Amino acid sequence: MARVGLREWLAVGRVIAAGDLLRNSGPLQEVARFERALCDETGATHALAVTSGTSALVCALQAAGIGPGDEVLVPAYTWMATVAAPLLVGAVPVLVEVDETLAMDPDDLAAKITPRSRAVIPVHMLNRPCDMDRIMSVAGAHGLVVIEDSCQAVGVRYKGRACGTIGQAGAFSFNQYKNMTVGEGGAVLTSDPDIHARAFNAHDMGWAYRGAGAPEPRGPMFVGGNYRISEIQGAILRVQLRRLRRSLSRVGKRLAIIRDVLERAGLSVAPHNDPDEVLGLVVTFDTEAEARAFARHRGVHHLFDNSKHIYTEWTPILDGRTFHPGFDPWTWAGRNAPVSAEDCPKTLDRLRRSCRIDPMARLPLFAVRLLARRMTA
Ligand SMILES: *Cc1c(COP(=O)(O)O)cnc(C)c1O
Repeated sequence: MARVGLREWLAVGRVIAAGDLLRNSGPLQEVARFERALCDETGATHALAVTSGTSALVCALQAAGIGPGDEVLVPAYTWMATVAAPLLVGAVPVLVEVDETLAMDPDDLAAKITPRSRAVIPVHMLNRPCDMDRIMSVAGAHGLVVIEDSCQAVGVRYKGRACGTIGQAGAFSFNQYKNMTVGEGGAVLTSDPDIHARAFNAHDMGWAYRGAGAPEPRGPMFVGGNYRISEIQGAILRVQLRRLRRSLSRVGKRLAIIRDVLERAGLSVAPHNDPDEVLGLVVTFDTEAEARAFARHRGVHHLFDNSKHIYTEWTPILDGRTFHPGFDPWTWAGRNAPVSAEDCPKTLDRLRRSCRIDPMARLPLFAVRLLARRMTA
């Protein structure tokens, strides 16, 4: 979780003094400048700031032309937003197991593809990149659009590339619990000018292209929503982005210490898809009882007790209930049942046997080492 402080307060003050809070007309162009800075940080060609990670996913799906009748492959372990987003555009989510890295299993992805599959949303949970090389190759072989849900991996890299810039589009979240925060916020990243132009259309009503950071239209307008953020949010995000590398390096240093202590004690640290980028630590046991016992230590959390991050807890999705009985993506995709609790037994088993370790980013290194040793006592 990121912190906010004096620098954010001062940045907001400057925006208020300038008098215009709308991204399109604010004289300081905070949102447009944030988008450019986010491109510099990630290497994406285009970034579009939006109101949340969920709206980033919705805009990316609309930009990619995903809708009724389409299937979108998503992992069974993720925040519910990843799975709600396809439904909001009229498509159905199809659940894919996670493997021992706790990220989407590329073999199960290949096994779940049908003639209706149009897109896949791999999720980099807990700052842990997916196996993007294999996911990109499976997706490429089947013509699937890849939209990375990088909401929990802002600033994290996979083999030197920023998570969120490897697929055709990526979604970031800047809510309270993420690597950067503005309370609520998000971004769509892409290097495809068509996706960027369509995401821009989706996020701003689609009636005109206007103001700071707006791309040239690349086709006729379609109806959009309003997912714009204000200059106040843009100003805070610019400050947060400047803090990002330092705060991730605090996380990395602490996890390296903890990992070392745990591995010396013979605990089974879950493998990473990029071993050079360890910013999220998971320990997996042989049994659920061992995981539950381990989770009693300070800084340890049992993954199975993580409520809406597990597909069996997604009540409205299991029930197949949308805002209107006529809005029925499952029927449009020729399915008579939504997601079922039996869909991904391997994922449930792994989550039952696994714990995540808090990086304890605010504690000094000696205290982190002490707490890690206690975990092994
Ligand atoms: C936080 C999160 C989201 C959604 O972000 P919001 O900004 O809360 O809408 C989507 N996917 C994952 C994996 C997340 O952790």
